[in-house]
Amino acid sequence: MDADILVVGAGIHGAAVAHAAARDGYRVRVVEQYARPAEGTSSRSSKLIHGGLRYLESGQLRLVRECLREQRALLRERPALVKLVPFYLPVYRHTSRPAWKIAVGLWLYRLLGGHRFRRIPAREWATLDGLDTRELRAVFRYFDAQTDDRALTAAVLADARALGAVVAFDTRLEGIECNAARCRVYCHGPAGTEVLTAACVVNAAGPWVNRVLARVTPRPAMREIELVQGTHIIVPGALTRGIYYLEAPQDRRAVFAMPWKGRTLIGTTETPYQGDPAEVHPLAEEQAYLLAVYNRYFQRGLEQADIEDAFAGLRVLPAGEGSAFSRPRETILHRDDTVPRVLSIYGGKLTSHAHTARQVMKRLAPVLTRG
Ligand SMILES: Cc1cc2nc3c(=O)[nH]c(=O)nc-3n(C[C@H](O)[C@H](O)[C@H](O)COP(=O)(O)OP(=O)(O)OC[C@H]3O[C@@H](n4cnc5c(N)ncnc54)[C@H](O)[C@@H]3O)c2cc1C
Repeated sequence: MDADILVVGAGIHGAAVAHAAARDGYRVRVVEQYARPAEGTSSRSSKLIHGGLRYLESGQLRLVRECLREQRALLRERPALVKLVPFYLPVYRHTSRPAWKIAVGLWLYRLLGGHRFRRIPAREWATLDGLDTRELRAVFRYFDAQTDDRALTAAVLADARALGAVVAFDTRLEGIECNAARCRVYCHGPAGTEVLTAACVVNAAGPWVNRVLARVTPRPAMREIELVQGTHIIVPGALTRGIYYLEAPQDRRAVFAMPWKGRTLIGTTETPYQGDPAEVHPLAEEQAYLLAVYNRYFQRGLEQADIEDAFAGLRVLPAGEGSAFSRPRETILHRDDTVPRVLSIYGGKLTSHAHTARQVMKRLAPVLTRG
Protein backbone atom coordinates (compact mmCIF):
# COMPACT_ATOMS: atom_id res chain seq x y z
CA MET A 1 0.00 0.00 0.00
CA ASP A 2 1.41 3.47 -0.94
CA ALA A 3 -0.45 5.36 1.77
CA ASP A 4 -2.80 4.96 4.69
CA ILE A 5 -4.62 8.14 3.73
CA LEU A 6 -4.79 9.86 0.38
CA VAL A 7 -6.05 13.43 0.60
CA VAL A 8 -7.56 15.18 -2.42
CA GLY A 9 -6.94 18.94 -2.25
CA ALA A 10 -4.36 21.20 -0.62
CA GLY A 11 -6.75 23.82 0.71
CA ILE A 12 -7.02 24.40 4.45
CA HIS A 13 -8.97 21.17 5.04
CA GLY A 14 -6.64 18.94 3.01
CA ALA A 15 -3.64 20.52 4.75
CA ALA A 16 -5.22 20.11 8.21
CA VAL A 17 -6.18 16.46 7.61
CA ALA A 18 -2.67 15.71 6.28
CA HIS A 19 -1.21 17.34 9.39
CA ALA A 20 -3.46 15.49 11.84
CA ALA A 21 -2.90 12.16 10.09
CA ALA A 22 0.89 12.55 9.84
CA ARG A 23 1.01 13.56 13.52
CA ASP A 24 -0.86 10.34 14.36
CA GLY A 25 1.82 8.34 12.53
CA TYR A 26 -0.06 7.53 9.32
CA ARG A 27 1.48 7.55 5.84
CA VAL A 28 -0.17 10.43 4.02
CA ARG A 29 -0.24 11.56 0.41
CA VAL A 30 -1.86 14.77 -0.81
CA VAL A 31 -2.73 15.45 -4.45
CA GLU A 32 -3.46 18.99 -5.57
CA GLN A 33 -4.40 19.96 -9.11
CA TYR A 34 -2.77 23.40 -8.90
CA ALA A 35 0.89 24.33 -8.48
CA ARG A 36 0.67 25.50 -4.87
CA PRO A 37 -1.55 25.24 -1.79
CA ALA A 38 -4.71 27.33 -1.25
CA GLU A 39 -5.42 28.16 -4.91
CA GLY A 40 -9.13 27.37 -4.36
CA THR A 41 -11.39 28.80 -1.65
CA SER A 42 -8.65 28.94 0.96
CA SER A 43 -7.08 32.08 -0.51
CA ARG A 44 -10.40 33.80 -1.28
CA SER A 45 -12.00 33.96 2.16
CA SER A 46 -12.65 37.00 4.34
CA LYS A 47 -9.49 36.02 6.27
CA LEU A 48 -11.24 36.09 9.63
CA ILE A 49 -10.66 33.62 12.43
CA HIS A 50 -13.90 34.34 14.17
CA GLY A 51 -16.72 32.88 16.20
CA GLY A 52 -19.33 34.27 13.84
CA LEU A 53 -21.14 36.84 15.93
CA ARG A 54 -24.00 36.89 13.42
CA TYR A 55 -24.64 33.14 13.85
CA LEU A 56 -26.03 33.96 17.31
CA GLU A 57 -29.13 35.41 15.67
CA SER A 58 -29.89 32.07 14.00
CA GLY A 59 -29.27 30.21 17.27
CA GLN A 60 -26.12 28.38 16.08
CA LEU A 61 -24.60 28.54 19.59
CA ARG A 62 -22.65 25.30 19.29
CA LEU A 63 -20.97 26.52 16.11
CA VAL A 64 -20.06 29.84 17.75
CA ARG A 65 -18.63 28.17 20.86
CA GLU A 66 -16.63 25.71 18.77
CA CYS A 67 -15.22 28.48 16.54
CA LEU A 68 -14.27 30.65 19.53
CA ARG A 69 -12.49 27.69 21.12
CA GLU A 70 -10.58 27.09 17.89
CA GLN A 71 -9.77 30.79 17.65
CA ARG A 72 -8.17 30.74 21.12
CA ALA A 73 -6.09 27.70 20.15
CA LEU A 74 -4.90 29.37 16.92
CA LEU A 75 -4.01 32.62 18.69
CA ARG A 76 -1.85 30.52 21.02
CA GLU A 77 -0.34 28.13 18.46
CA ARG A 78 0.12 30.38 15.42
CA PRO A 79 0.72 33.87 16.86
CA ALA A 80 2.64 35.04 13.76
CA LEU A 81 -0.34 34.26 11.49
CA VAL A 82 -3.45 34.78 13.61
CA LYS A 83 -3.85 38.13 15.34
CA LEU A 84 -6.53 39.64 17.53
CA VAL A 85 -7.99 42.76 15.86
CA PRO A 86 -10.55 45.31 17.10
CA PHE A 87 -13.88 45.20 15.27
CA TYR A 88 -16.12 48.31 15.18
CA LEU A 89 -19.84 47.81 14.88
CA PRO A 90 -21.72 51.07 14.24
CA VAL A 91 -25.46 51.41 14.97
CA TYR A 92 -27.37 54.04 12.97
CA ARG A 93 -30.92 55.26 12.94
CA HIS A 94 -31.37 53.35 9.67
CA THR A 95 -29.68 50.04 10.63
CA SER A 96 -31.90 47.15 11.63
CA ARG A 97 -30.50 46.09 15.02
CA PRO A 98 -30.90 48.47 17.96
CA ALA A 99 -27.94 49.12 20.29
CA TRP A 100 -29.45 47.08 23.15
CA LYS A 101 -29.75 44.01 20.91
CA ILE A 102 -26.14 44.28 19.82
CA ALA A 103 -25.03 44.70 23.46
CA VAL A 104 -26.95 41.52 24.40
CA GLY A 105 -25.37 39.67 21.44
CA LEU A 106 -21.89 40.79 22.47
CA TRP A 107 -22.51 39.67 26.07
CA LEU A 108 -23.57 36.27 24.83
CA TYR A 109 -20.54 36.14 22.52
CA ARG A 110 -18.33 36.92 25.52
CA LEU A 111 -20.05 34.21 27.58
CA LEU A 112 -19.47 31.65 24.81
CA GLY A 113 -15.73 32.36 24.90
CA GLY A 114 -15.32 35.67 23.01
CA HIS A 115 -13.21 38.62 24.07
CA ARG A 116 -14.04 41.84 25.86
CA PHE A 117 -16.16 44.56 24.26
CA ARG A 118 -17.09 48.16 24.99
CA ARG A 119 -19.22 50.99 23.72
CA ILE A 120 -17.10 53.75 22.16
CA PRO A 121 -18.00 57.20 23.59
CA ALA A 122 -19.30 59.73 21.05
CA ARG A 123 -16.28 62.01 21.61
CA GLU A 124 -14.06 59.29 20.01
CA TRP A 125 -16.19 58.74 16.91
CA ALA A 126 -14.21 61.29 14.89
CA THR A 127 -11.12 59.03 15.18
CA LEU A 128 -12.81 56.12 13.39
CA ASP A 129 -11.24 56.31 9.91
CA GLY A 130 -13.79 58.85 8.62
CA LEU A 131 -16.83 56.70 9.47
CA ASP A 132 -20.01 58.65 8.75
CA THR A 133 -21.27 60.01 12.08
CA ARG A 134 -24.58 61.41 10.80
CA GLU A 135 -27.48 59.61 12.51
CA LEU A 136 -24.93 57.44 14.31
CA ARG A 137 -26.46 56.12 17.55
CA ALA A 138 -23.69 53.95 19.01
CA VAL A 139 -20.46 52.21 18.13
CA PHE A 140 -19.38 48.95 19.78
CA ARG A 141 -15.84 47.62 19.77
CA TYR A 142 -15.15 43.94 20.26
CA PHE A 143 -12.28 41.64 19.32
CA ASP A 144 -11.96 38.81 16.82
CA ALA A 145 -8.98 37.56 14.83
CA GLN A 146 -7.63 38.03 11.31
CA THR A 147 -5.20 35.86 9.36
CA ASP A 148 -3.59 35.48 5.96
CA ASP A 149 -5.58 32.47 4.69
CA ARG A 150 -3.06 31.47 2.03
CA ALA A 151 -0.11 31.71 4.43
CA LEU A 152 -2.02 29.80 7.13
CA THR A 153 -2.80 26.97 4.71
CA ALA A 154 0.83 26.87 3.53
CA ALA A 155 2.03 26.75 7.17
CA VAL A 156 -0.30 23.86 8.09
CA LEU A 157 0.77 21.95 4.96
CA ALA A 158 4.46 22.61 5.71
CA ASP A 159 3.93 21.14 9.19
CA ALA A 160 2.32 18.07 7.62
CA ARG A 161 5.28 17.66 5.25
CA ALA A 162 7.74 18.03 8.12
CA LEU A 163 5.99 15.04 9.72
CA GLY A 164 6.37 12.96 6.56
CA ALA A 165 3.28 13.75 4.43
CA VAL A 166 4.08 13.61 0.68
CA VAL A 167 2.44 16.34 -1.41
CA ALA A 168 2.12 16.23 -5.22
CA PHE A 169 1.21 19.54 -6.88
CA ASP A 170 0.00 19.90 -10.47
CA THR A 171 -1.56 16.48 -9.92
CA ARG A 172 -5.20 15.90 -10.60
CA LEU A 173 -7.27 13.12 -9.15
CA GLU A 174 -8.89 11.29 -12.09
CA GLY A 175 -10.58 8.29 -10.48
CA ILE A 176 -10.97 6.17 -7.35
CA GLU A 177 -11.87 2.48 -7.27
CA CYS A 178 -12.56 0.99 -3.87
CA ASN A 179 -13.10 -2.56 -2.67
CA ALA A 180 -13.44 -3.99 0.83
CA ALA A 181 -9.67 -3.89 1.43
CA ARG A 182 -8.37 -0.70 -0.21
CA CYS A 183 -8.77 2.07 -2.79
CA ARG A 184 -6.89 2.41 -6.07
CA VAL A 185 -6.41 6.07 -6.92
CA TYR A 186 -5.69 7.32 -10.45
CA CYS A 187 -3.87 10.66 -10.64
CA HIS A 188 -2.52 12.65 -13.53
CA GLY A 189 0.62 14.67 -12.81
CA PRO A 190 3.70 16.05 -14.58
CA ALA A 191 5.02 12.50 -15.10
CA GLY A 192 1.75 11.20 -16.53
CA THR A 193 -0.83 8.95 -14.93
CA GLU A 194 0.06 7.28 -11.66
CA VAL A 195 -1.91 4.64 -9.75
CA LEU A 196 -1.64 4.68 -5.98
CA THR A 197 -3.19 2.43 -3.38
CA ALA A 198 -4.47 3.78 -0.09
CA ALA A 199 -6.45 2.45 2.84
CA CYS A 200 -8.78 5.43 2.57
CA VAL A 201 -9.36 8.68 0.72
CA VAL A 202 -10.31 12.05 2.20
CA ASN A 203 -12.13 14.20 -0.33
CA ALA A 204 -11.15 17.74 0.71
CA ALA A 205 -11.86 19.22 -2.71
CA GLY A 206 -13.93 22.18 -1.45
CA PRO A 207 -16.37 23.29 -4.16
CA TRP A 208 -15.20 20.40 -6.35
CA VAL A 209 -16.39 17.90 -3.68
CA ASN A 210 -19.16 16.31 -5.75
CA ARG A 211 -17.05 16.34 -8.91
CA VAL A 212 -14.52 14.19 -7.05
CA LEU A 213 -17.26 11.91 -5.64
CA ALA A 214 -18.58 11.42 -9.18
CA ARG A 215 -15.21 9.79 -10.01
CA VAL A 216 -15.54 7.11 -7.31
CA THR A 217 -16.43 3.50 -8.17
CA PRO A 218 -18.77 2.11 -6.96
CA ARG A 219 -20.60 5.43 -7.09
CA PRO A 220 -21.46 6.65 -3.55
CA ALA A 221 -24.45 8.83 -2.67
CA MET A 222 -23.71 12.57 -2.60
CA ARG A 223 -25.11 15.47 -0.60
CA GLU A 224 -27.13 17.97 -2.54
CA ILE A 225 -25.32 21.27 -2.39
CA GLU A 226 -25.48 24.82 -3.62
CA LEU A 227 -22.37 26.79 -4.48
CA VAL A 228 -22.63 30.41 -3.41
CA GLN A 229 -20.08 32.88 -4.67
CA GLY A 230 -18.55 35.46 -2.33
CA THR A 231 -16.64 38.38 -3.81
CA HIS A 232 -14.21 40.80 -2.15
CA ILE A 233 -12.77 44.02 -3.56
CA ILE A 234 -9.58 45.86 -2.62
CA VAL A 235 -9.52 49.66 -2.64
CA PRO A 236 -6.72 52.12 -1.87
CA GLY A 237 -6.24 53.56 1.61
CA ALA A 238 -5.74 51.62 4.82
CA LEU A 239 -8.10 51.57 7.76
CA THR A 240 -6.05 52.39 10.85
CA ARG A 241 -8.36 51.41 13.72
CA GLY A 242 -9.41 47.90 12.79
CA ILE A 243 -12.21 46.08 11.01
CA TYR A 244 -15.65 47.63 10.46
CA TYR A 245 -18.73 45.42 10.63
CA LEU A 246 -21.28 47.15 8.38
CA GLU A 247 -24.87 46.48 7.46
CA ALA A 248 -25.49 46.63 3.70
CA PRO A 249 -28.29 49.19 3.15
CA GLN A 250 -29.40 47.22 0.05
CA ASP A 251 -30.35 43.94 1.83
CA ARG A 252 -29.15 44.24 5.47
CA ARG A 253 -26.42 41.63 5.06
CA ALA A 254 -23.17 41.91 7.03
CA VAL A 255 -20.26 43.38 5.06
CA PHE A 256 -16.76 43.82 6.49
CA ALA A 257 -14.26 46.57 5.62
CA MET A 258 -10.81 45.47 6.73
CA PRO A 259 -7.23 46.66 6.65
CA TRP A 260 -5.34 44.32 4.31
CA LYS A 261 -1.68 44.70 3.33
CA GLY A 262 -1.78 48.51 3.33
CA ARG A 263 -5.16 48.69 1.56
CA THR A 264 -8.82 48.10 2.38
CA LEU A 265 -10.53 44.78 1.71
CA ILE A 266 -14.32 44.83 1.48
CA GLY A 267 -16.54 41.76 1.39
CA THR A 268 -18.53 39.78 0.83
CA THR A 269 -21.46 38.96 -1.45
CA GLU A 270 -23.73 35.92 -1.86
CA THR A 271 -24.46 35.05 -5.47
CA PRO A 272 -25.69 31.57 -6.47
CA TYR A 273 -23.16 29.88 -8.74
CA GLN A 274 -23.48 27.10 -11.26
CA GLY A 275 -20.63 25.86 -13.35
CA ASP A 276 -17.00 24.93 -13.06
CA PRO A 277 -15.53 26.08 -9.72
CA ALA A 278 -12.27 26.88 -11.50
CA GLU A 279 -14.00 29.66 -13.44
CA VAL A 280 -15.54 31.66 -10.59
CA HIS A 281 -14.76 35.36 -10.90
CA PRO A 282 -16.01 38.63 -9.37
CA LEU A 283 -19.06 40.03 -11.17
CA ALA A 284 -19.43 43.73 -11.98
CA GLU A 285 -22.69 43.96 -10.00
CA GLU A 286 -21.05 42.41 -6.92
CA GLN A 287 -18.25 44.96 -7.08
CA ALA A 288 -20.78 47.78 -7.43
CA TYR A 289 -22.74 46.45 -4.42
CA LEU A 290 -19.61 46.34 -2.20
CA LEU A 291 -18.48 49.79 -3.34
CA ALA A 292 -21.94 51.19 -2.54
CA VAL A 293 -21.82 49.76 1.01
CA TYR A 294 -18.36 51.22 1.60
CA ASN A 295 -19.26 54.62 0.14
CA ARG A 296 -22.43 54.72 2.27
CA TYR A 297 -20.40 54.48 5.49
CA PHE A 298 -17.09 56.12 4.59
CA GLN A 299 -18.28 58.80 2.15
CA ARG A 300 -15.19 58.47 -0.02
CA GLY A 301 -17.05 58.55 -3.30
CA LEU A 302 -14.96 55.69 -4.72
CA GLU A 303 -15.80 54.51 -8.22
CA GLN A 304 -15.44 51.22 -10.07
CA ALA A 305 -12.14 52.49 -11.53
CA ASP A 306 -10.72 52.82 -8.00
CA ILE A 307 -10.99 49.08 -7.38
CA GLU A 308 -7.42 47.79 -7.42
CA ASP A 309 -8.19 44.09 -7.19
CA ALA A 310 -11.07 41.68 -6.62
CA PHE A 311 -11.43 37.97 -6.03
CA ALA A 312 -14.25 35.48 -5.61
CA GLY A 313 -14.56 32.19 -3.74
CA LEU A 314 -17.28 29.56 -3.42
CA ARG A 315 -19.13 28.52 -0.28
CA VAL A 316 -20.45 24.95 -0.23
CA LEU A 317 -23.87 25.06 1.40
CA PRO A 318 -26.46 22.32 1.85
CA ALA A 319 -29.22 22.77 -0.72
CA GLY A 320 -32.28 24.21 0.95
CA GLU A 321 -34.83 26.91 1.39
CA GLY A 322 -34.18 30.55 2.22
CA SER A 323 -31.29 32.90 1.55
CA ALA A 324 -27.70 31.68 1.62
CA PHE A 325 -27.10 34.20 4.43
CA SER A 326 -29.49 32.37 6.79
CA ARG A 327 -28.44 28.79 5.83
CA PRO A 328 -26.66 26.64 8.52
CA ARG A 329 -22.87 26.80 8.29
CA GLU A 330 -21.94 23.57 10.09
CA THR A 331 -19.27 21.41 8.46
CA ILE A 332 -20.62 18.10 7.14
CA LEU A 333 -18.52 14.92 7.06
CA HIS A 334 -20.14 12.57 4.60
CA ARG A 335 -19.58 8.87 4.04
CA ASP A 336 -21.77 6.47 2.14
CA ASP A 337 -21.76 2.96 3.68
CA THR A 338 -21.37 1.40 0.24
CA VAL A 339 -17.89 3.03 -0.01
CA PRO A 340 -16.76 3.41 3.62
CA ARG A 341 -13.17 4.13 2.62
CA VAL A 342 -14.02 7.54 1.13
CA LEU A 343 -14.87 10.43 3.43
CA SER A 344 -15.91 13.83 2.04
CA ILE A 345 -15.80 17.25 3.70
CA TYR A 346 -18.63 19.63 2.78
CA GLY A 347 -18.45 23.30 3.76
CA GLY A 348 -16.46 24.26 6.81
CA LYS A 349 -14.50 27.24 8.00
CA LEU A 350 -10.92 28.33 8.01
CA THR A 351 -11.39 28.95 11.74
CA SER A 352 -12.32 25.38 12.63
CA HIS A 353 -9.96 23.50 10.27
CA ALA A 354 -8.07 21.72 13.08
CA HIS A 355 -11.31 20.62 14.76
CA THR A 356 -12.63 19.31 11.44
CA ALA A 357 -9.39 17.39 10.88
CA ARG A 358 -9.67 15.78 14.33
CA GLN A 359 -13.25 14.74 13.53
CA VAL A 360 -12.12 13.28 10.20
CA MET A 361 -9.46 11.18 11.97
CA LYS A 362 -12.07 9.86 14.41
CA ARG A 363 -14.38 8.89 11.57
CA LEU A 364 -11.57 7.13 9.68
CA ALA A 365 -10.40 5.02 12.62
CA PRO A 366 -12.45 1.92 11.65
CA VAL A 367 -10.95 1.69 8.15
CA LEU A 368 -7.36 2.64 8.95
CA THR A 369 -4.66 0.06 9.22
CA ARG A 370 -1.17 1.19 10.17
CA GLY A 371 1.55 0.40 7.63
C1 LIG B 1 -16.31 34.23 0.30
C2 LIG B 1 -15.91 33.35 1.44
C3 LIG B 1 -15.49 33.94 2.63
C4 LIG B 1 -15.12 33.13 3.70
N1 LIG B 1 -14.66 33.72 4.84
C5 LIG B 1 -14.27 32.96 5.88
C6 LIG B 1 -13.74 33.56 7.04
O1 LIG B 1 -13.58 34.77 7.12
N2 LIG B 1 -13.39 32.75 8.07
C7 LIG B 1 -13.53 31.39 8.01
O2 LIG B 1 -13.22 30.72 8.99
N3 LIG B 1 -14.00 30.78 6.89
C8 LIG B 1 -14.35 31.54 5.83
N4 LIG B 1 -14.82 30.95 4.68
C9 LIG B 1 -14.85 29.49 4.60
C10 LIG B 1 -13.45 28.92 4.24
O3 LIG B 1 -12.74 29.80 3.44
C11 LIG B 1 -13.61 27.60 3.52
O4 LIG B 1 -14.44 26.74 4.26
C12 LIG B 1 -12.29 26.87 3.32
O5 LIG B 1 -11.32 27.70 2.75
C13 LIG B 1 -12.53 25.65 2.45
O6 LIG B 1 -11.31 24.96 2.35
P1 LIG B 1 -11.23 23.58 1.59
O7 LIG B 1 -9.86 23.05 1.83
O8 LIG B 1 -12.39 22.74 1.97
O9 LIG B 1 -11.47 23.96 0.05
P2 LIG B 1 -10.50 24.68 -1.00
O10 LIG B 1 -9.65 25.71 -0.35
O11 LIG B 1 -11.33 25.10 -2.13
O12 LIG B 1 -9.51 23.52 -1.43
C14 LIG B 1 -9.91 22.46 -2.27
C15 LIG B 1 -8.70 22.04 -3.09
O13 LIG B 1 -8.98 20.84 -3.77
C16 LIG B 1 -8.32 20.91 -5.01
N5 LIG B 1 -8.96 19.95 -5.93
C17 LIG B 1 -10.26 19.92 -6.33
N6 LIG B 1 -10.48 18.92 -7.18
C18 LIG B 1 -9.29 18.26 -7.34
C19 LIG B 1 -8.88 17.14 -8.09
N7 LIG B 1 -9.71 16.44 -8.91
N8 LIG B 1 -7.56 16.76 -8.00
C20 LIG B 1 -6.69 17.42 -7.22
N9 LIG B 1 -7.04 18.52 -6.48
C21 LIG B 1 -8.32 18.93 -6.54
C22 LIG B 1 -8.52 22.34 -5.45
O14 LIG B 1 -7.60 22.73 -6.42
C23 LIG B 1 -8.34 23.10 -4.12
O15 LIG B 1 -7.01 23.52 -3.92
C24 LIG B 1 -15.18 31.73 3.58
C25 LIG B 1 -15.60 31.14 2.38
C26 LIG B 1 -15.94 31.95 1.31
C27 LIG B 1 -16.35 31.32 0.02
